[in-house]
Amino acid sequence: MPEKIIGRKVVILGSGPAGLTAAIYASRAQLEPLVVDGPQPGGQLTITTDVENYPGFADGIMGPALMTEFRTQAERFGTEFSNLWISEVDLSARPFTLHGKESPESDEVSAIIKAETLIISTGASAKWLGIPGEAPVPEGFGGNGVSACATCDGFFFRDVPIIVVGGGDTAMEEALFLTRFASKVTVVHRRDEFRASKIMQDRVLEHDKIEVLWNTEVREILGTKDKGVESARLFNNVTNEESDHATRGVFVAIGHKPNTELFRGQLDMDEVGYLITEGRTMRTNIPGVFACGDAQDSYYRQAVTAAGTGCMAAIDAERFLAEQEHEAAATTPAAV
Ligand code: NDP
Repeated sequence: MPEKIIGRKVVILGSGPAGLTAAIYASRAQLEPLVVDGPQPGGQLTITTDVENYPGFADGIMGPALMTEFRTQAERFGTEFSNLWISEVDLSARPFTLHGKESPESDEVSAIIKAETLIISTGASAKWLGIPGEAPVPEGFGGNGVSACATCDGFFFRDVPIIVVGGGDTAMEEALFLTRFASKVTVVHRRDEFRASKIMQDRVLEHDKIEVLWNTEVREILGTKDKGVESARLFNNVTNEESDHATRGVFVAIGHKPNTELFRGQLDMDEVGYLITEGRTMRTNIPGVFACGDAQDSYYRQAVTAAGTGCMAAIDAERFLAEQEHEAAATTPAAV
């Protein structure tokens, strides 16, 4: 039997800019929200360095410091935090039921959370190629030459050649950023044209430190434990030729996947898994469940837009609860 039952008017899953902004608004509305941190407390900004485009910080701010500010502000108004691992959600009836474990490996449910409203801000994670050599150390070179975050790891690749995989705006942005450090950046793309916006493509194609290998796939990342990555095995899908390309780093920039598997079969999502919300609101297909941030937005994916949708989700939740109370009062017979 689970040890604890936690009941809340508002439960927020995820603690990036969307979740913490929702928490600030919900706690200022005296709804005493509970934020379930998730596997990466603070979200994706905690693995970036300088954030120069978050309004209000004229000189920029470090990603982790920005998220500490968000958290402190949410705590100031009474937000509570939980580091439970949510293994299952049941959205078939209100209050919604969430099963919380101490860790992903744990067999036992240690707490049941009952939520009158649920705000989903579980964010997105970088996609990987799924090739040999890509997995995290010790199985592969992840963290030792393989990365999905140029701003986090670019600094470690001074004056050495590196590869960026992908043809979208993220790949362009990563490649351009990495020219600050690397001796040469090779963009490896599986087709003969980029998906990225024209302006970003032009910047990449015109940059004298960047070379593009078209119609090329990375099949394997090779190296040694001591030296890290030394080369990438490339496959040209037009000539069918395989070759080894010397490189010290491989940056995978092939898009993101929303962290929404937990809700599959219950909430409407698009083919990639982004949660679908109604019109200008953050309402999902289940009344009382709201979605915001990168779990819901595949298009803008910015800290400030995530924060904006977090605010909207909290206001939607607050109004939903007020309507429920109003309806309950209207159907309750007056005392005689
Ligand atoms: P995208 O989905 O736009 O691009 C992903 C790229 O990776 C595509 O070129 C795709 O190839 C390639 N790819 C996907 N899977 C594989 C695979 N298994 N092997 C090899 N290549 C693969 O994702 P992004 O993250 O680039 O962008 C997402 C959204 O965010 C876009 O709307 C983008 O405009 C926006 N964005 C905007 C920025 C800006 O304006 N500054 C910065 C970053 C993102 P293929 O083309 O063949 O499908």
